[in-house]
Amino acid sequence: MVTPNRAGFCTYIQNGPNRVPLIQIEQPSFPRRLSNMQVDPFDFQSRTRVVFGPGSVTRAGELVRALGAQHVLLVTDAGIMAAGHAARVQNGLETAGLPVTLFDKVKANPTTRCVEDCVAVAKAADIDLIIGLGGGSSMDTAKGCNFILTNGGQMKDYWGVGKATKPMLPFIAIPTTAGTGSEMQSAALIADEQTHQKMACLDPKAAARVAILDPALTLSQPPRVTASTGMDAVAHAVETAVTTKRTPLSLMYSREAFRLCVRAFPEVMLNPDDLEARGRMLLGAAFAGLAIENSMLGAAHALANPLTAQYGVVHGEAVGLMLPHVVRFNGRDPATCAAYAELAVAAGIASAGDTPEHAQQTLLARLDSLLHLANLPRTLSDCGVTSTAIPALADAAAQQWTASFNPRSVQAKELAALYRVAFQPPVLEAVPATHNDCGDALAH
Ligand SMILES: [Zn+2]
Repeated sequence: MVTPNRAGFCTYIQNGPNRVPLIQIEQPSFPRRLSNMQVDPFDFQSRTRVVFGPGSVTRAGELVRALGAQHVLLVTDAGIMAAGHAARVQNGLETAGLPVTLFDKVKANPTTRCVEDCVAVAKAADIDLIIGLGGGSSMDTAKGCNFILTNGGQMKDYWGVGKATKPMLPFIAIPTTAGTGSEMQSAALIADEQTHQKMACLDPKAAARVAILDPALTLSQPPRVTASTGMDAVAHAVETAVTTKRTPLSLMYSREAFRLCVRAFPEVMLNPDDLEARGRMLLGAAFAGLAIENSMLGAAHALANPLTAQYGVVHGEAVGLMLPHVVRFNGRDPATCAAYAELAVAAGIASAGDTPEHAQQTLLARLDSLLHLANLPRTLSDCGVTSTAIPALADAAAQQWTASFNPRSVQAKELAALYRVAFQPPVLEAVPATHNDCGDALAH
């Protein structure tokens, strides 16, 4: 006998004259209007085969052969060379009978010059598959090279969505950081050599055919890289969970990414050799990358990009310090506050009985504590920014594409206000912790 009630469903057994509850299954007390969220049309296709596990990088040769390729361009940077990862991949491929041409001059925040240098090496070698080995910069350079090698022209020709008309070479992504999620995205982010304007060049053909997620490769990250890339992954999960473009599928990846990263991030900061936690970070970062592919990002990334372009602030540090302020700003919209609350509840850091406002405060407090634990900057002053820079920074932030997907509309005025408050650490407000009926409270 099943008797539904307001809190959930109870199954009773009849014991003489008495009915005894047997099982109580609580329905999530998420706000009804979000649980019944209107589902707009979407088109989701996962383009990337994911091969996960410690030691999975040893399968590179087999995976290259499965794509029918015979000569690999390996794109990486000096740090990955020094760590020995590039030699390991190269040796593995050559042992499998696959010649390798190496481009090891990737720079952080790669520019059009870096891509052109890579293209020159690729053209001279007659390669038929590209591997990007490293952080987001290596993967972006590899993708940028693929655009120009196969479709000609310059990077700016592909700025936007779907500008490549000819097929591209198969691309395999092997991340060595748990952060950008570039391995799951079809975008190459390349900065103009002169203006430093970051150009997002998106095309489904540019997405990796295979992502090899080997947690053992991420053990070599210096602590500051673990910190900044890890915070970036956390920010990706949080931002994608509330964008105007999110879908039920992207939301699923955002939530799982946040659940994995919010726990694994402190673990890898405190114990860098914890391979199991490194694996959860790597998987979380990839899931967040897949969420970005389908839901885009928000104001924290729009605010961060000018800090990187104008002040050289490391991407993950810039995003991390702006994120709590953006969460607080966006949370003034009740629906977005409820969405943050759902994220916090799904990750297990807030309780389903919490008010949305309290759950959002819990999320804010957790983000601030992660910044603190990872020894990341928490104010713009920490990054050497002065308040006189705000108007120029806000104008640049308003030009960022990602600003257009933020759940609350942000123009230069709002972005300037967000920079202004970021000269102080985020303020946590006291709000009621619980109420009796989450749904009713939100309906008002
Ligand atoms: Zn990011």
